[in-house]
Amino acid sequence: MKAFQFVEWQKPAELREVPVPQPGPGQVLIKVGGAGACHSDLHILEAPAGTKAFKLPFTLGHENAGWVEKLGSGANGFAVGDPVIVYGPWGCGSCENCRVGMENYCPGKIKAGGLGQNGGMANYMVVPSTRFLLPLGKLDPREAAPLTDAALTSYHAVKRSIHLLGPGSTAVVIGTGGLGQMAIQVLKALSSAATVVAVDTSVAKLETAKKMGADEVLISGDGAVKRIKEITNGQGANLVLDMVGVKPTLEMAAQISRVLGHVTIVGLGSGALPVNFHSPAKECSVAAPYWGSIPELMEVVSLAQAGKIKMLVEHFPLERADEAYHLLHDGKIQGRAVITPND
Ligand SMILES: [Zn+2]
Ligand SMILES: [Zn+2]
Repeated sequence: MKAFQFVEWQKPAELREVPVPQPGPGQVLIKVGGAGACHSDLHILEAPAGTKAFKLPFTLGHENAGWVEKLGSGANGFAVGDPVIVYGPWGCGSCENCRVGMENYCPGKIKAGGLGQNGGMANYMVVPSTRFLLPLGKLDPREAAPLTDAALTSYHAVKRSIHLLGPGSTAVVIGTGGLGQMAIQVLKALSSAATVVAVDTSVAKLETAKKMGADEVLISGDGAVKRIKEITNGQGANLVLDMVGVKPTLEMAAQISRVLGHVTIVGLGSGALPVNFHSPAKECSVAAPYWGSIPELMEVVSLAQAGKIKMLVEHFPLERADEAYHLLHDGKIQGRAVITPND
């Protein structure tokens, strides 16, 4: 089969011929329907050797959905042909965090297909346990793949702050690429009472943000800070989601968050936010979450099945995976680029 693999540090990934893997005991072989190209892959591909603990080569694609192709001995609960989505971070399964479905916070060594282990940018991938599979029902794996990262990451970032988003509250989403668009929809689905403000440097992206349900869209800059203060009677936003995470966006987040609010850093841009007695506002919490839990992915799938969230998806065959990453790098993907290896 063909696999799009990360072979050498700071070199583009390569399409290579590799054997079809076989599922061991308890494992499942998935025929890949869709594998999302994530911005975090660009950070990995561009990282200098030695800065990430990955052994090369491995197949990219940590945002995967497909169909059950073959069950290893002892694996059950699914049948061949079932459409499934793959939960990404694979923990130990037995610690406190894993037992409540938060394998993203397993204190042991987390494995993940597409992040050091072979992922979904290939015709087939092996998932180590059925506990990482969720049934998709009527959803098409080619469309649903981004639910497991872009949507789950946004969903978790919103849900942890949902108690702040009652009537009269304001949530600001800085950066309205794939994750930001999803965050806007999740905010609207989980708290119809909150006012959702989207901020970006791109007019086109703000137009999309509006379509996704943002109540107000603002071009980033001093004007946006002023307007957010105005909307919130000078108090600032209850929740600020920074989907970018660079110095200017973090500075803005600190300026527009309110007393007892939350600033949540989702974007992997490696900016730093100074936190001291005077800034951000008093008792404003700053957190950087990572991915989400298995129960949250079940909720995300339910929202998608109910038609309440939808990712803008652009499909690319495996042969064009490299091109998809280039477009992503250049900011030319509107929602999510999804590689479809078996089309
Ligand atoms: Zn990702
Ligand atoms: Zn664990």
